[in-house]
Amino acid sequence: MIPITKPVMGEEEAQAASRAVLSGWTSQGPEVAAFEKEFAAFVEAPYACAVSNCTTALHLALLAAGVGPGDEVVTVSHSYIATANSIRYCGATPVFVDIDAQSYNLNATLLEAALTKRTRAILCVHQIGLPCDLSAVIDVGRRHKIPVIEDAACAIGSEIFWNNEWQKIGAPHGDVACFSFHPRKIISTGDGGMITTRHAEWDKQFRLLRQHGMSVSDTVRHSSAQVVFESYPTLGYNYRMTDIQAAVGREQLKRLPGIVAQRRALALRYGELLKNIEGLGLPSEPDWAKSNWQSYCIRLPVDCDQREVMQWMLDKGISTRRGVMCSHREPAYAGFDIRHSLLHSELAQDQCILLPLFPGMSLGEQTYVTDALRQACENRYLKLSQVSEAARELLGG
Ligand SMILES: *Cc1c(COP(=O)(O)O)cnc(C)c1O
Repeated sequence: MIPITKPVMGEEEAQAASRAVLSGWTSQGPEVAAFEKEFAAFVEAPYACAVSNCTTALHLALLAAGVGPGDEVVTVSHSYIATANSIRYCGATPVFVDIDAQSYNLNATLLEAALTKRTRAILCVHQIGLPCDLSAVIDVGRRHKIPVIEDAACAIGSEIFWNNEWQKIGAPHGDVACFSFHPRKIISTGDGGMITTRHAEWDKQFRLLRQHGMSVSDTVRHSSAQVVFESYPTLGYNYRMTDIQAAVGREQLKRLPGIVAQRRALALRYGELLKNIEGLGLPSEPDWAKSNWQSYCIRLPVDCDQREVMQWMLDKGISTRRGVMCSHREPAYAGFDIRHSLLHSELAQDQCILLPLFPGMSLGEQTYVTDALRQACENRYLKLSQVSEAARELLGG
């Protein structure tokens, strides 16, 4: 069986977890602090705050941007459902805009028309690791004085050409960026998230809210020579990462450059192996973006049935996924006001499939996948010619 992905974990991570377990301090503590520092250095962000996952990161980012009941946040439907859900946690309404058919990212030319008097934030997504058109998005945000939040769940290690140099996603280029360490992403802590921001005040707020809104953190209280009574000035949450997770994350961060380099090489090879299949749409990077290739998304020829192709691949022991979901099509979003056409979002969900891609994937495995896909696409042509043959007979030659 060829899986869709495989986390890269080894003895280093196991020993790091063991170190945290045996240290006597397993909840948010020194390992979390060290992980934050190392992560901030990696993406060159002024502040990084670790949390329990990317969904809670998005919730805190939206709260910091001032999003509350009655507000609107412009975002994409074509994303994992957590993107839109995090807006609803604030009592606000997601306003969906369509994606660009080639990049699968928010179509920035549609952004301005989606803004209303109630728009409190723009939540853009770097979908499956490819940076979205940040300069256009941030330009709209600046002109309308609306904060820009980057859902960078899948985009750890991705880069954008900015101010004449390659910069990591998460600097951040908007006001705040949120990352995920779920195993389906690039590096993992089991579950986990990170928020980077350029605003000192926002970072302070994240630290307060992730720990029940408690005025004094338990690490400070623990190490104080004086008796300290904490207070709770505001409604907070338990969105903490544990030290066991952070210890694993620090090891994962060391592997990250190697993982991204491998993923980029595998994506390049997929491009070569797939380039001659008629009607197949291949992913590409604009010249200002470098994807970490969290997923390799291809668009099937228009007359190919997605489910049939995926079943064909599965029968050959190859795991695939359909295109990224559209939140507005889920029952949880029934009755939501869909103001703008989401045609390209829906087409991408229905026509695309994600191919297996993981570090260590061999040329043999990749060729096996691309051969199976080629056969699936050629079967379709076979079927079509059989149909026309039958049709011709029916019509009397
Ligand atoms: C995975 C994902 C999330 C949610 O991340 P968790 O860490 O699982 O909460 C949010 N947004 C996008 C785009 C994702 O891919």
